[in-house]
Order: sequence, then structure tokens, then C-alpha cells
Amino acid sequence: MGDITAADLAKKFQVLFGATPKIYRAPGRVNLIGEHTDYNDGFVMPAAIEFYTWIAIAPRQDRKLLVHSTNFLESAEIDLESDEPRPRNHWSDYVFGVAVMLQRAGHHLRGASLLVHGEVPIGSGLSSSAAIEVATGFALLEASRLTVHRVELAKLCQRAENDFVGARCGIMDQFISCCGRAGHALVLDCRSLDYRPLPLPGEVSLVICNTMVKHELASGEYNTRRAECEEGVRLLSRFLPQLRALRDVSLQDLKKYSAHLPEAIFKRCRHVLSENSRVTEAAAALECADLSMFGRLMHDSHVSLRDDYQVSCAELDLMVELAEKFPGVFGARMTGGGFGGCTINMVANESVAEFQRHVASAYEKSTSLVPRIFATTAAEGVAEVLR
Ligand code: ADP
Ligand code: MG
Repeated sequence: MGDITAADLAKKFQVLFGATPKIYRAPGRVNLIGEHTDYNDGFVMPAAIEFYTWIAIAPRQDRKLLVHSTNFLESAEIDLESDEPRPRNHWSDYVFGVAVMLQRAGHHLRGASLLVHGEVPIGSGLSSSAAIEVATGFALLEASRLTVHRVELAKLCQRAENDFVGARCGIMDQFISCCGRAGHALVLDCRSLDYRPLPLPGEVSLVICNTMVKHELASGEYNTRRAECEEGVRLLSRFLPQLRALRDVSLQDLKKYSAHLPEAIFKRCRHVLSENSRVTEAAAALECADLSMFGRLMHDSHVSLRDDYQVSCAELDLMVELAEKFPGVFGARMTGGGFGGCTINMVANESVAEFQRHVASAYEKSTSLVPRIFATTAAEGVAEVLR
């Protein structure tokens, strides 16, 4: 699906750094169901997609890390021998942040030159950030002949994004980029990190529709939602002292104590709890290949995100509405943080081409925006690419 081969990237690397690299790539992801649940210790169901962030890497004699991104056409460097680098509010924070967290965890890294090439659309909710982090972490470890368990790597990459880049994300994105399985979605418990691969039925494709909008309020509202969930936990824990996260509350208890919550907080909590049960039901539906049930749960998830969590927008609602009307579509919903970005659709294979044409033209007619619509299968997590 991508526009580059390992040989192309190696050639570029040779020109830039005068050495022969090894090549790794880590996928972006799409979340089938379970939105805004990861940071509430809840359940999610992502799949890795066939868009990757590639990294070509070769070790160096010194302990410098040199990195160039073909997306930003810029280079940056740090020296692992000097004091720990500080974030610079620059894309290279994603790379150096991972190096810092690996080092802090006791993994002594060699110097290396890195060439980054990202195919995951940046800032569209398909997690180019996790893809660059995971690809970096995996490549740096291999270049230093170190191994770290994939789940551990996911945690370190999340820590880089949380504590170095300064973005509050849950564990889902890094986890799936590390542990994705071809042809499968994973149902993941974000508290215990237990997970189960679920085979995706061969007769459907995952179709991603990019609305091509990203509203300004996205990151601010994300932080507000997290604070609202924390406030929900605080208020409810007066009645439920064992409570650690919204994951521990039942819908029944939420209703029982609703009078003690401001309406907005109640709705945010209701989304998280109902979404958690939808993930469990959706996993059961996939296990018996009940696509109609799966699709209904996707629909309900979208409605809950729109009305209770209030993170949708007109473009996402329109894209879902157009998709749901189309024959051969089992389910459609917004995916990712919201306020723009992408929708995820389960579409019968034979309907995909017509779906793309029809939805794209109807969306363009209404919005004057040209959406990007593509089908993907579930991909494998981070790996070396052999030439
Ligand atoms: P997304 O939804 O794509 O994860 P984020 O805002 O979380 O959006 O992360 C996007 C940021 O990650 C970019 O602005 C950039 O700083 C960094 N990034 C992602 N891919 C690349 C790349 N190929 N090269 C350099 N930086 C990248
Ligand atoms: Mg991101």
C-alpha cells in the first residue's frame, strides 16, 4: 500500500549517511471499537493497518543519535554522552523521547543514524505518533543488540509520548503498533494489558474514510475529557471507595449516584461504561462472526461518542451517515480522538469499490472536501523488513 520499498529507503540512507542500514517498520492503527476507554483502564479493539513508519538505521562509532525525516525534510541530533536532552517542541521529540525512556529503563544504547519515512497520515487519528515511537524504539534496540519484550516497549513508548513529548495518550496506540497480528484485531484490557487476537472475517474489509478536517479544539477537548473522567471517579469514589478508574463502575451504580454528578460528567461516564460493555459484546460477536451484531455495536458507539462524550463533529457524523446508508456496510463509526480525522467502516469485500466512489462523491458534494478513502487488512506489528 505504501509508496516506498526497503531498497529505496536503503539507497536514500546510503546517500545521506554513507552506510548500509537495516530497515524496520511499525504500523499505524485503527480502533474498531472502544473509544476513549484506554485512559479509563477500559477495553479497546484496535487493528494495525497497512500504513507504516519506516526507519532505516545504522550504528555509529560515537554515541550520537542523528535523525532525518523524509516527511519534514529536516535533521536533528543529540549526544547520548551529554546530559539527558530536553524536549524541543519538535517532531524529533518523538524519536529522542523514546531513546531517553529506553536509557532511563537501563538499556544502554549505541549511537546511530536514523532515516524516518512515514506513510501514516500525520494528525489524522491513525497514530503516526505511536508508529514513529515504536519503529524508533525497536530499531534503536536492535542496533544496540538489545531485546525488550514488546509489551514493555509499548509502555516505554507511551511514556515517551506522555512525559517527553507531553501528550497525554493511553497505551492503545503503542500496544497495537508493537503487538498487532495480521488478519486480526486485538481486544485489549488496558489495565492488565491482557489481550486476545480476534480473527477478522475474510469477507469484509476495514475501510477508513479520512474526513480531511481536524478541528482546532481536538487536543484541548481531549484533555478536558480526561479531566472530566477523573472528576467522575473523584465524585463516585465518595460512594464507591474501592474505585480506581471508571472501569470499576457498573452502569447500575452510575445511575444510582447520578444525582451527585453534574450532567456533563454523568454523560462522559455513561459513554465510557457503555463503551466498555460494547467492546466485550463486539469481541463475542467477532468470535462467532456475527457481523450484523458487530455493526450495530459500531453504530451505538458512534451515537454515544456524539451525544454522551460529545467528541464528534458534523463531518464525522456525515461520513458515518453516508456509509450506513450504503448496502454492504455492516457498521460505521468515528475512530480516534474525534473532532475530525477518520471513520472506520466494515464493508463487504465486493462492495468496497462502489462504497469508495459513492461515499467520496456524496461527501464532497456536501462539504466541498475531497475525502481519502482506503481499504486495509489488519497488519502485523513492528518488524524488520528484509531486502
Ligand atoms: P497522530 O494522530 O498522527 O498520531 P499526533 O499529533 O499524535 O497525530 O502525532 C503527529 C506528530 O508525530 C507529528 O506532528 C510529528 O511531530 C510526529 N511524527 C509522526 N510521523 C512522523 C514522521 N514520519 N517524521 C517525523 N515526525 C513524525
Ligand atoms: Mg498520536
